[in-house]
Amino acid sequence: MKILVLGGGVIGVTSAWYLAEAGHEVTVIDRQQGPALETSFANAGEVSPGYSSPWAGPGVPAKAIKWLLMKHGPLVIRPLADRAMWSWAFQMLANCTAARYAVNKARMVPLAEYSRDALKALRASTGIAYDERARGTLQLFREQKQLDGVGGDIEVLKQYGVPFEVLDQTGCVAAEPGLASVREKFVGGLRLPGDETGDCRIFTERLAEMAAGRGVKFDYSVAVDDVRIEAGKVTGVSTSAGVYTADAYVMAMGSYSPIWMRRIGQPIPLYPIKGYSITVPIADAARAPVSTVMDETYKVAITRLGDRIRVGGTAEISGYDLKLRQARRRTLEHSVADLFPGSGDLGAATFWCGLRPMTPDGPPIIGVSKFSNLYLNTGHGTLGWTMSCGSGRVLADLVSGRAPDIDASMLGLQRYAR
Ligand SMILES: Cc1cc2nc3c(=O)[nH]c(=O)nc-3n(C[C@H](O)[C@H](O)[C@H](O)COP(=O)(O)OP(=O)(O)OC[C@H]3O[C@@H](n4cnc5c(N)ncnc54)[C@H](O)[C@@H]3O)c2cc1C
Repeated sequence: MKILVLGGGVIGVTSAWYLAEAGHEVTVIDRQQGPALETSFANAGEVSPGYSSPWAGPGVPAKAIKWLLMKHGPLVIRPLADRAMWSWAFQMLANCTAARYAVNKARMVPLAEYSRDALKALRASTGIAYDERARGTLQLFREQKQLDGVGGDIEVLKQYGVPFEVLDQTGCVAAEPGLASVREKFVGGLRLPGDETGDCRIFTERLAEMAAGRGVKFDYSVAVDDVRIEAGKVTGVSTSAGVYTADAYVMAMGSYSPIWMRRIGQPIPLYPIKGYSITVPIADAARAPVSTVMDETYKVAITRLGDRIRVGGTAEISGYDLKLRQARRRTLEHSVADLFPGSGDLGAATFWCGLRPMTPDGPPIIGVSKFSNLYLNTGHGTLGWTMSCGSGRVLADLVSGRAPDIDASMLGLQRYAR
């Protein structure tokens, strides 16, 4: 089939790769000048199936109030008169029960694990390099009550067979020697040795190059203007470079997907949640993290990417606003300077923000829409890099009429049907 992929972030590019592998003729269009220039550009770099959980969980509403009041808190809300925002927020709150959390998590973990394995297989077959490391993640607890409260997470990890280690201060320092000089700042941690790290933008750029080498066409600086529908099907996509037609279409425009889906009469429950990162050149490698350290108090992830440290975090609910707010930068700087003092040159850091395409329940939306030739691969929220290869494979299988390797029946829009 001739397939048009809308969006060249990590999700669009992995979709294109696996669609081409399945024998389809694929074109990717994106409004930017190259791949991964929006949310996939400078994320926190974690490939973390062990950490794959919905944000909506029991206790989250109470925690949210605490976070909103904290200095350097991980949550910021700028209330807008935006119906989509309030509707999304109410749906998210409805998912904050133990029962919903269990259902949603059970949909996310198999996809994340499948995805990590697909990434490993891709690395083995192509040699793709992206400042990757396979040295786990360490969730670091500054307070005893965080460590004491880890039992629930451990039960879930056991249930899914995800390897883990509960570490005391000495264990944390053994895993992350850069923490040696600040051991009094934390009480212990939870290490997930099966997790990986890597630069999502470099990965996406290189995969796009390899896909182009295999015949995928990439048309950049092409903005979607209109999706044309006739008799229950997409008949073409009008763009700044003319009309594109194909047999099937894949919606992979991240946080902008709901705008287009609403316009064509199929609203999807997806809202942009803004996050920030700084990328800091390493000044002293011995003091830097070796992998990802998740500073649980501030919900900030600190990741080694080659000769840089990527520090990412914050959930800011403020619509499509892309303003870089300096207060958020200070939170990220505080976390890395506090845990890894002297490791990086903060004065030379670059500051970035992106919009996570979040569903209210957690899992992405992968599957066909009510239009028979329009597929969705979007809504990956905080875990788009982690879930990219698996989502691309599942999407390619569904488009090709093949059964995916994992159960994808509840990853589609049908889960929102009442
Ligand atoms: C601060 C932060 C930290 C994160 N950390 C992690 C992490 O550690 N691990 C992890 O797994 N995930 C992480 N994520 C999430 C991850 O980055 C996203 O889930 C992922 O990048 C989403 O990819 P995407 O391809 O769906 O969206 P995008 O990368 O945004 O791609 C969508 C594409 O659509 C294009 N587009 C939009 N509108 C149009 C239009 N009208 N016409 C043409 N093209 C259009 C855009 O140009 C863009 O390239 C983080 C996100 C943030 C913000």
